[in-house]
Amino acid sequence: MDIDYREFQINDLLVDIHWNLDSLHIVFGNNLNDNLLCQSSVNYEISNHWVWFPNSKGSKVANKIYSFFNHCKGSADSWDGWGKIWRLNVAPRVKHFTWLLLHNAVQTMEYLYHLNLGPQTMCTFCNLLPESAEHLFLKCHKSQQIWNLTCSIIGKPINLSQGISSGLWLDQEMSGNDSHIQSVIAATVWFIWKARCNRIFKLEELDCQLVSIRATGHVREYSYASPLHLRNNFIIHNFTHANSPIMMIAYAHNTNLTTAGLGFVVFESNSSMICSGCCGSPVITDLEATVCALSFALQSIHNWGLNCFVKTILSSSAMLITKIQQETLTEDWRIDLQIQNIKKLLDEMGSPSLHSIPLSWNRAAYALALHGLQHHEVSLFHRGQDLPRWLMKILRPFGFC
Ligand SMILES: [Zn+2]
Repeated sequence: MDIDYREFQINDLLVDIHWNLDSLHIVFGNNLNDNLLCQSSVNYEISNHWVWFPNSKGSKVANKIYSFFNHCKGSADSWDGWGKIWRLNVAPRVKHFTWLLLHNAVQTMEYLYHLNLGPQTMCTFCNLLPESAEHLFLKCHKSQQIWNLTCSIIGKPINLSQGISSGLWLDQEMSGNDSHIQSVIAATVWFIWKARCNRIFKLEELDCQLVSIRATGHVREYSYASPLHLRNNFIIHNFTHANSPIMMIAYAHNTNLTTAGLGFVVFESNSSMICSGCCGSPVITDLEATVCALSFALQSIHNWGLNCFVKTILSSSAMLITKIQQETLTEDWRIDLQIQNIKKLLDEMGSPSLHSIPLSWNRAAYALALHGLQHHEVSLFHRGQDLPRWLMKILRPFGFC
């Protein structure tokens, strides 16, 4: 069939009310489900319409397709539990994991065995039965201990009598689990999975109590966070109370790189600011600017006596983190001296973990650095003070309070 796609019509693929399989194969290749296509027919009585076009008018074709399936009514699987997963008070990664679990797609040993991807392996917690999702998350006596502890922490019964992968625990009428309990179930399953992976890959012993405390704490953090925090704040999605206080540092420099603004903000896992600051500094290189930013932040919190509390430091400069973690010297003895001083301060702080994050996640510290670049003077702020309007305007859009 010689097709002119500019004049192409859906009718070119139909014979009466059925698909013309030969034409479909010419246009779309051989990856079509013929059985499904044979069963479907065109109804000319109701209004048919295009869902997406070759030219998608600015929005991506994939977006249009997702949007269609997410909003299409009367699809084959109309179970409303799917929608409930995305409304749970848990991190996006926990929701995604729950979605996998309910599709029987969590990669347990049993799952891999059935795909011929590994031997049949016993549960890592009890070593008595094969590691299936139902066993690992529910029936294993170690998991039972975790569920009992979780029940006693939240002070309510948890009904999982219909199993874990069925998802019927998301049906409040049937199970009696309210939305808070449903969130706790999803978080507990996730933290059991993390404990299972840590046991296999890091040889860590299972601590049932820690799993329950982390799961209930996780739901508490999400339940109390304002929608603004959840929308704009990557911290709550990636860090827990145990990782905080967290310090973000950044620098901003002018076009000819003679001066840099340095900025930092220290906050708790619930995004409440503890302290922040900014200033201007003469610099020659990017490395010098990023070293100065960390040095300024560490010296400021040291002077406040807050240094021993910070557990995590985030910077958008991978170069800075490499220089601190490696023993190699730079070509500038002044920077080497500053790095030595930074290492000493970090040691005194109990070696907080250092992570590199994209600048788009570090915009609050960057906005402070920009202020430092424009105003030069040292500005330091501590919780409990009346914060100036410009600082509130910087921090609020990023979910800090
Ligand atoms: Zn077991």
